Amino acid sequence: MVSKIPGLYIHIPFCLSKCPYCDFYSSTSLSAIPDFLNALFKEMEMYRSRFNPFDSVYIGGGTPSLLSPEQLESILVRVRRNFNLISNPEITIETNPADLNRSFLDSMREIGINRINIGVQSFDEKVLSFLGRRHSVKKAISAVETSRKAGFCNIGLDLIYGVPEQNIDSWLDTLKQAVAFSPEHLSCYQLTLETKTPLGKRYQAGEFLIPGEALQYEFFMKTSEFLEDAGYLHYEVSNFARGTELASRHNQKYWDHSPYLGLGPAAHSFQDNRRWWNRRSIDQYITAINAGNLPVEEAETLAIEQLRLEALYLGLRTRKGLYLEEFKNQYHCDLLTEKKKMLDKLQEEGLISIQNGYLYPTQTGLAVADSLSLI
Ligand code: SF4
Repeated sequence: MVSKIPGLYIHIPFCLSKCPYCDFYSSTSLSAIPDFLNALFKEMEMYRSRFNPFDSVYIGGGTPSLLSPEQLESILVRVRRNFNLISNPEITIETNPADLNRSFLDSMREIGINRINIGVQSFDEKVLSFLGRRHSVKKAISAVETSRKAGFCNIGLDLIYGVPEQNIDSWLDTLKQAVAFSPEHLSCYQLTLETKTPLGKRYQAGEFLIPGEALQYEFFMKTSEFLEDAGYLHYEVSNFARGTELASRHNQKYWDHSPYLGLGPAAHSFQDNRRWWNRRSIDQYITAINAGNLPVEEAETLAIEQLRLEALYLGLRTRKGLYLEEFKNQYHCDLLTEKKKMLDKLQEEGLISIQNGYLYPTQTGLAVADSLSLI
């Protein structure tokens, strides 16, 4: 494999309340935070000599902004003690607008966090209420403004579309409000309803409808067109940045088989064709670590065929696409000859392009990216 720089992910599995659509692993029992942190520090020691150096650290969750500045600082102190970081690492924290005030944000800057992701989700009060978010539009606005005043020059906003009764115009209003803050990064996710979540159950019980395929496509295309017109690069199905250098360094590792280490309950890791993931339970995670064991739930070694399929699936979700020569060397497959007929057809349909040695989806192709990987 081509050598790629690894990234470090730290999962903070706590939320003040559970949003009814959310399928991420988190608990509302905040009393477990001190024991969790002690276990996290031990887990870092267990991986001490592997994965060096990192060029990105991503503190995600859950809701990392629920931790105190002192707790977050202690995490980064332990990261630096146990691992090497390159001289200018990207260090991101995911936050809830409800937790952001000037003093917290000043502390985040002081401890070395240089990228802040804010879970705004919408600038429409009705949508926030449907999604069960614990912040208002007013609070979201002040969170973004205060982040800027605190000196953050790499701000990302998360937004959700495809919410029941939302129409294209109301979604475009949210996008207009978002770009008015000139965030460096925007993630626009389509609402997905996992069956086990409270909203998923209400949907299955027929309590509400979500936009059908045609309307979802329209949401996607309008989002892409609007944000590209506003100067954003649509660099992955759900992600937009004001230039390639502002694309999330960390998240790109998940799309190109770079190694990454995930610490904390339910976190996933990948290195040398091997993937493993931690126990999805704070108690089990702490118990395993306190017994001197890695808290790994399961691991798998991926065969070359699986890696190839993944690389195709993930690469065709990015605007950069796949570098064909590297793909051939890494996965032993010459797409240009082996898949010629299919590639010709997709090119005729305007879904992909092949230029300068890259195979990549067009803007329309990105909208149907999942089906492109079936070539
Ligand atoms: S705050 Fe984020 S992680 Fe927590 S429940 Fe809501 S969406 Fe999920």
